Amino acid sequence: STNEKLEYIKSKIGTFPDFPKKGIVFRDIFTALRDPTACRYLKEVLVQEVKQRYPNAEIIVGLESRGFLFNLLIATELGIGCAPVRKKGKLPGDLISVEYVLEYGKDIFEMQANAIKPGQKVIIVDDLLATGGSLKAAIELVRKAGGDVIGGIVVMELKDLRGRDKIDCDVHTLIKY
Ligand code: AMP
Repeated sequence: STNEKLEYIKSKIGTFPDFPKKGIVFRDIFTALRDPTACRYLKEVLVQEVKQRYPNAEIIVGLESRGFLFNLLIATELGIGCAPVRKKGKLPGDLISVEYVLEYGKDIFEMQANAIKPGQKVIIVDDLLATGGSLKAAIELVRKAGGDVIGGIVVMELKDLRGRDKIDCDVHTLIKY
């Protein structure tokens, strides 16, 4: 069942206290991806949930960098395209950008200006929802590009940080901490 698959994946996710700095418990999806069964289950569950929740999605946007692990995977199974949101300075061509606040300081997310067609139905994928700052900025960016954000999907959510309170669209999470 889906729950058994999620339990299995969860058992393979790495936990690193005090990384990248003191007080942060880093949840490492790459530890799970060493395991072929966890890879397969993760793909199966992501594809199933997206098909069920967002059957009318027209493009999937992945957030740098672990979101990229999942956007192509989901896109090919849904028969849609995908596009990246990247940190400033990595993408060529005409760009749109949004500034967002980090724990210390600010950063800038960019997308290629033509990545999304006006009115296109967009879903966003990332590995983990923490404070919600990244997903919120990505939603703003997609809207700036003229996209209609119909939802987001993340593999993991750190519930206590209440990141989803910042998000004004549907967000689905596979594994909660
Ligand atoms: P946030 O913007 O605070 O929701 O942070 C989400 C982004 O930072 C995601 O792209 C995650 O990959 C990364 N991230 C934040 N906190 C963690 C954590 N505890 N473990 C792993 N990744 C994290």
